[in-house]
This record gives sequence, structure tokens and C-alpha cells, in this order.
Amino acid sequence: MLEAVPAGLYIGGQWRPSETGNTFPVHDPATGRELAVVADATVADGAAALDAAAAAQKGWARTAPRERAELLRAAFDAVLTRADDFALLMTLEMGKPLAEARGEVTYGAEFLRWFSEEAVRVSGRYAAAPDGKTRLLVHKRPVGPCLFITPWNFPLAMATRKIAPAIAAGCTMVVKPATLTPLTTLLLVQVLEQVGLPPGVLNVIPTSRAGLVTAPLITDPRLRKLSFTGSTEVGRRLLADSAQQVLRTSMELGGNAPFLVFADADVDAAVEGAIVAKLRNMGEACTAANRFIVHESVADEFATKLAARMRSLVVGPGSEEDSQLGPLIDQESRDKVHNLVQDAAANGATIVTGGQPVPGNGYFYAPTVLTGVSADARILHEEIFGPVAPITTFRDEEHAVEVANSTEYGLVAYVYTRDTARTLRMSEELETGMLGINVGVVSNPAAPFGGVKQSGLGREGGFEGIDEYLETRYVGVADPYA
Ligand code: NAP
Repeated sequence: MLEAVPAGLYIGGQWRPSETGNTFPVHDPATGRELAVVADATVADGAAALDAAAAAQKGWARTAPRERAELLRAAFDAVLTRADDFALLMTLEMGKPLAEARGEVTYGAEFLRWFSEEAVRVSGRYAAAPDGKTRLLVHKRPVGPCLFITPWNFPLAMATRKIAPAIAAGCTMVVKPATLTPLTTLLLVQVLEQVGLPPGVLNVIPTSRAGLVTAPLITDPRLRKLSFTGSTEVGRRLLADSAQQVLRTSMELGGNAPFLVFADADVDAAVEGAIVAKLRNMGEACTAANRFIVHESVADEFATKLAARMRSLVVGPGSEEDSQLGPLIDQESRDKVHNLVQDAAANGATIVTGGQPVPGNGYFYAPTVLTGVSADARILHEEIFGPVAPITTFRDEEHAVEVANSTEYGLVAYVYTRDTARTLRMSEELETGMLGINVGVVSNPAAPFGGVKQSGLGREGGFEGIDEYLETRYVGVADPYA
């Protein structure tokens, strides 16, 4: 299957090597084995990709919305036809268990279907001005050529969440996938090519020098939009670069999600929700529950039951069907997770289960529960990006909200309670873009995904998702009766 995955750059409808012929390797995090080598785009390749996107923009914007919709719908069908290939490829290059990779194929493909449906629903308005002297015509135009920079943790979904609405809106694009996981994006691009996406609309430049290759594109006046998913640190830098030409930006950045369990919660349901919110993608998700904030009356029960569930999980290579938890993406990530655990323990936390890397090949880390974590432990302030659940306690609702909001991040929060009025208070008080009530996962292509505070700007998915790729144009028209 790997032999069938393209390994080149895709520019102006052509697969080709990089200008220098250089490549970089892609590895399997479960074994460290090299999977493939991929063309390594240079600054000149990046410029060629933007040339192609800019040249295609005018013609693409003029295509019928129905034509763009049908292309997206055909891509949705084609991705599902090749679901097993996509799932295996993601498991190989990223590490997630096959069952989760299949889930991502469904989730990622759904953006193609959702935006095929939205492509034909873009509308405007016509109205008389209040004084009756002019007419107001408001319509939507594609933003223009976009640059997409995507992370390694959800290689398919993070790509389709940007590519699908851009195609629907009539934008052309240059995509720079993560160096650790470019293969899934390359297979997706091949599928889009096969269903008839015209040359130049989508161009892909894997590169091992992300900053060097993308910086000139961000300051190129032909680029009209940057959409980035990744860390807050890199996002801040890209926002600063984007300020030079006041580029439109969407920023899907890091998170530090609180997971609140109130005294009236169904604790068993909260534990099941915690397993999903914490361990989906081995904890390597921006939406991963990072801080478990539990009412003091149920904290012991919650910790004991969560630790028991964590201990029961099968840790192993994602490609083995019975694996429930795969490896972390690389050695550096695993070291970071372990350092956070050691820092918490040194500051008084109790390791209820786990707390160690798993010996042997690959970057596996034992699912871990920590209790008695002190408020200033680093693990409560940094993205863990690993299978570690630090538990702290709260006294009352006001205290819970104060602790939950005490972070510069604001992507998502999870709340377990059976009190309806409290769920509404939480939806008003918690400073996040998204909130899960008695659920451990909120991501849905039909819903607006995104954060507040330093978790980002803009929304992906839902009715809002296509707006990120549209400009509003107002036309004032003289009184037709004058
Ligand atoms: P990252 O290090 O910020 O990298 C993300 C992407 O940016 C990669 O393609 C990377 O290329 C590229 N990049 C790095 N430095 C760059 C620079 N100076 N200029 C231009 N591009 C640059 O993040 P990551 O480690 O891949 O992903 C994990 C982070 O993403 C976490 O913080 C997570 O919370 C966040 N995330 C957020 C969302 C969301 O929707 N809010 C979703 C998923 C992930 P290389 O691969 O070559 O380094």
C-alpha cells in the first residue's frame, strides 16, 4: 500500500520532485522504521506553488458552486472507498490505533460531504437603505489564494477541515503538511486529483524547513489567507508575520481543557467520558482533557475508577487490532510527557497508576493517573499531549469555574453534571470556544470548532466554516426610481 502513496510535490497539477531533488524520511513511531521518503520543497518550490494557486484563482472562483459541490461529494465517496488505505496509512505514520484511524477517516471525510452541501448555500441580500435613497446589495466572494499549515496529530481531518471549505468557497490553495505525517495528505491530494480537481487549485509542498519555505508566501501580496493548525507558540509567530500585509488568518492553536466532575454527576459515565477525552489519539489532541477538576466528595471514587480503567487498556502498535493505545509521536514528545509527570511527583503528586515510559521499541507511555497535584505544577499549565490525567479537587461551583478559567488557553471544556441549570451556567461562565456536557468528545463537522483566548481565531466546520474563506462585498446602488 505504501508504494501507491505519492511521494512528490504537487504543483499546478503535476507530481514532481523538489527543485534540488532532496527528500526527507517519514518514520513509524511504533517501531522507528522508515516508511518512505518524501520530496523536500525548497523556497523556489513554495514560490512555484503560489504561482500556480494565483494563476488558477480567477477561473476557479468563476466555476459553478454546484460543480465545486459535486467534486467534493465525489472526493467524499472516493475517500470512503479507500477508507482502509487511509486508516492504515495514518496508523503507520502517526501511531494511532486502527479503530481510531478509521474513526478519523469518517470524521475527515465528513468535512468533504458537509462542505459539498454548503457550497451551494452561500447567499447575500438586497435591501432598501433606511432613507429609501439607495439599494444595498451584499454578496460573498472567495477570499483568494490560501496557505494551509497543518499538524501531525490528525493528518486527514486537519487537512479536509481547511481544504473542503476552501474548495466550496472557490479559493485556491497551497498546503504544507506536517513533516512527521505528510503521507496522508499526499494520498488525499491524489484522490482529489482523481475526482477531477483542476490543476493549480490545490498545491502541496511537504518540506523539512517549514519556516524558511512558508515565510516568503506569507508576505507575498498574492496570498490572501493563512489558516494554521498547530501550537500557540508557532501561531503567535505566524500572526506577527501575517500582520505585515494584514492577511486574513484562522488560527486553531493549543488547548488546556478542564474536565469538571460535579458532586451530582454519574461518576461511571464521567470515567468513560474521561477515557475518551484523555486518551483519544493517545492524548495528543488539542481537545484532550488536560486538567481533571473533581468535586472533593467524589474525587477518590473518580480517581480509583479512572485508574482501574486505564490499567485495563492494551498498549501496543496501532496496527495490531487489539491495541487501544498506540505510541507517542517521537522520543522528544515522550520525554516531555515524562518530565511533566516527574515534575508533578516532585511537587507532591501521587502516581496512582503508570508514570513511566513503556520499555522496548517505539515511544509508548503507560496510561497515568496523578492525584494531589499542586496548583503550580507545570502539568496543569502546559499541554501534556500524552496519556496522563492529573486530578485536582474543588469545593463549590464558583471555585471550579475559577480554576477552570485560570489558563491562557480557551479551546474546550468538559462538564459532568445532572443539573440542567448548572449546564447553562457553565456554558456562560467557562471561557472556551466549545463545551461538552456529559460527553468526552465534541468534534463534529456540522459544528463550529475553535477556541477563544490563546487557543485561536476563527472557526472550522459548521455553517461558520465556509465564512472563513469568503469576503463580504457591499455594493451601493442608486435609487432605481430616481
Ligand atoms: P507545531 O509544531 O506548531 O506545527 C504545526 C505545523 O506548523 C507543522 O506543519 C509545522 O511544520 C509547522 N511549523 C512549525 N514551525 C513553523 C514556522 N516557523 N513557520 C511555519 N510553519 C511552521 O504543532 P504540532 O506539534 O505539529 O501540533 C501539535 C499542536 O497543534 C498542539 O499545540 C495542538 O494543540 C495543536 N492543535 C490544535 C488544533 C486545533 O484545532 N485547535 C488541532 C490539532 C492540533 P513541521 O512539521 O515541519 O514542524
